[in-house]
Amino acid sequence: MKQQESRGGIPWPAYLLLAAIAVLVVAVALRLHARQLEQEQAMRWSRIASDVDRILSGVNQHLGLLGTALEHPPAGSTALPPLQRHPAWGGWSADVRIEDQGRSVPLHLSGAGPAPPPAAREEIAAALQVAPLMLATRHDLPETTWIYYLSAQRFLLAVPWVDPLTYHYRDTLLQKPFYRQLEPRNNPTLAARWTEPYADEFGQGLMVTAARPVTWDGRFRGVVAIDLTLQQLNRLLGDVGPLVRGAYLIDGQQNILAERDRQAQKPPDNGPVPNIRDRLPEDLTPEQARQALAAGGLQHLGHYRLQVFPLKQAPWKLVVCQTDGAFWWLVLQRMRGELVILVLIALVILMLERNRRMQARLAVMEDRFRQTTELLPEIVYEADADGNVTFLNQVGLQRLGYLPEDLPRLNLRDLFVFQPPESNRPGNPTARMEMEYRVRTRDGEQFPALLRASPIREHGQIVGERGILIDISELRRYQQELETLATTDTLTGCYNRRMFMELAETEYKRCRRRRRKCSVLLLDLDHFKHINDSWGHTAGDEALRHFVRLLQGVLRDTDILGRIGGEEFAVLLPDASLEQAEEIAERIRERVESEPLPHGRVRIPVTVSIGVVELDGEGLDTALRMADRALYTAKEEGRNRVVSWM
Ligand code: GH3
Ligand code: MG
Ligand code: MG
Repeated sequence: MKQQESRGGIPWPAYLLLAAIAVLVVAVALRLHARQLEQEQAMRWSRIASDVDRILSGVNQHLGLLGTALEHPPAGSTALPPLQRHPAWGGWSADVRIEDQGRSVPLHLSGAGPAPPPAAREEIAAALQVAPLMLATRHDLPETTWIYYLSAQRFLLAVPWVDPLTYHYRDTLLQKPFYRQLEPRNNPTLAARWTEPYADEFGQGLMVTAARPVTWDGRFRGVVAIDLTLQQLNRLLGDVGPLVRGAYLIDGQQNILAERDRQAQKPPDNGPVPNIRDRLPEDLTPEQARQALAAGGLQHLGHYRLQVFPLKQAPWKLVVCQTDGAFWWLVLQRMRGELVILVLIALVILMLERNRRMQARLAVMEDRFRQTTELLPEIVYEADADGNVTFLNQVGLQRLGYLPEDLPRLNLRDLFVFQPPESNRPGNPTARMEMEYRVRTRDGEQFPALLRASPIREHGQIVGERGILIDISELRRYQQELETLATTDTLTGCYNRRMFMELAETEYKRCRRRRRKCSVLLLDLDHFKHINDSWGHTAGDEALRHFVRLLQGVLRDTDILGRIGGEEFAVLLPDASLEQAEEIAERIRERVESEPLPHGRVRIPVTVSIGVVELDGEGLDTALRMADRALYTAKEEGRNRVVSWM
C-alpha cells in the first residue's frame, strides 16, 4: 500500500501553482504592456498635439508681429500707388509690387467706392509697409493660405495676389466671423481669436482663421488675419497609429477642424460643419460626451477609450477614440514573449495532467491486481531481476512465515530449496513456466509447490518476474495415501498381493542377475477358521496382525513380505538358500507357536504351516505354486510344520 501512495501522481497543488503562475504572468504582463502602450500612445498623440500647437504658435506669433507692425508702422512714404477703378463692382484696386527674395511679387489691394477716402490713405500706406512681413509670414508658415488686413475703412490688403476681377473687397467681408467677432462690441478685450471652421471661397476646403484686431491710439481700425486650411492638420492626424477608431481636432464648439483619413471638405451645400458628437459612439449620451471632452486626459466611456489633449495655442483639442477591444488587441500583440511562456506552461500542465492520469490509472490497475491476488488462495509474489522479492500477498506472508517488513531483505533464493537448471531458476524466467519446487518457510519447514511464473517486461526488457506458488503438500499426501492404499494391506501393514508379486519379481530377477540364491516361503495359519469361530472375527484380525509382527521380528529388512490371501502370506528371501530358508521358516514357526495371541485374560494359541522353495531358474509364479504344494504337504502331515519342495 506504501507503493500506491508514492505512485499517486502529481498532487493537485502543483497544477494550481502552475495555473496561478500563468494567471499571474498574464495579469502582470497585461498590466505592464497596457501601461506601456498607454504611455506610448499618449506620447505619440501629445506629440501630434504639440505639432499642431507648433503650427498654431507660428500663426499666433506672426499674427502678433503683423498686428504690432500694423499698429506701429515705420515712418515713411504715405504715397499711394496708381489706382484702378472698377465700375463693374463699384470699387477700386491698386497694382502693387514689392521685392521679395529678389523677385517682384504682386500684392492684392482693393477697396470700396471710387477711391479710398482721404482718412484711409495713411492706413493703406501703413498696411503696404507691412506687406513684406506678410510675405515673410507666408514663407515661414507654408500651412497658411491667405494673409490679409481688412480695414474698417473698407479696403483689403492680401497676399498672395489674386486678380481684383476675380476677388476683391466687398462689404460682406465685414460680416464674416473673423471680422465680426473681433469688433470691439463682440470683443471688448480686443483679444486675438480663432474662428470656427468655414468653407474657403476659393475651394481650398475647410479653413479656420486666426485674427487679431488692429487699433490705432485705442481706436479699432481693422483686422489682420491668417487663414489656415485644415488639410494640413488632417495630414498630421494620419500619424495616430494603428487600430484607432478616430482622431479629431475640435474647436471649443466641438466642431471638427481636422479628422484623420478625411479630407476637410466643404460641407455639402455649405451645411453645418461636422461636430465631434456625430463621430463618437452612438450609445454615448451627449452629456457623457460633453463631460469626457471637457475633462481631458484618458476617459473610459462604455467600451471606448477617449484621449483628450487640449492645445495651448488655441481653444482646441485633439481627441483620439479607440475601442477597448482594439486597445487590448494591441496589448496582446505585444505579449508574444509571455504567450510563449503561457503556451509552455500549458504544455507542462497538459503533460503533468497526462502523467497524473496515467499514474492514477496505473494505481487503480495495481490496486485491482493486489486485491485480486489477496482473493487468491495461493502465494503470489513479484521479484525484481535479481530475485529480490518486491511483493508477497497476505497468503504468502502467512504460509511462508514472513512479515511485510521482511520483504526488503527477502530473496527468491530464500524461498526455493531446489535449484533447477539456470534457465528455469526462479528469478530468471525468460518465458512463462510451470514447475514443481520445494519451498522453504522462514522456520525451515519445506513443502512441495507448483510454481507458475512469467517474466515482467518493461520496454521489452525483463525487469523481474511474477509468480504463483501453489502449495501441493496436501496433494502429495493424498497421493502417498493412495499409493499406500494401493500397495499395502490395510489390516496388517504388509504389502498386498499385487505389490508383493511386483517387488518379489524385481528382487528375484536381481538375484538371478547376480547369480545369488533366493527362496520363497508360503505361510498359512492353521485352523484359522476355528479362531474366528471361537473368539470372534476381531480376534481373528488381531491374530493376523500378531502373526505379522512376529514374522517381521524374524525377517530381515531386505526380505519382502506380502499378504497374498485371507490368512496366507508369502515371503521372498533374497540371498537365501533352501537350507537358510528352512531355518528361517523354522524360526518363524517356533516363534508363532511359542507366542500365543494375548486376548483379554486368555492366550489364543496360533500355529503356522510353511512351504519352502528355493528358486532356481523357474519363474516366481511357478515357485509359488511349488511352495503351495509343500504347504499342502505340511497341512496334510498335521500342520504346524515346515515342508520344503525338493
Ligand atoms: P487350515 O488349517 O486347513 O488352513 O484351516 P483353516 O481354517 O485355516 O482354513 P480355511 O481356508 O478353511 O479357512 C480360512 C479362514 O480364514 C476362512 C476365513 O473366514 C478366514 N479369514 C480369511 N481372511 C480373514 C481375515 O482377514 N480376518 C479374519 N478374522 N478371518 C479371515
Ligand atoms: Mg488358507
Ligand atoms: Mg489356514
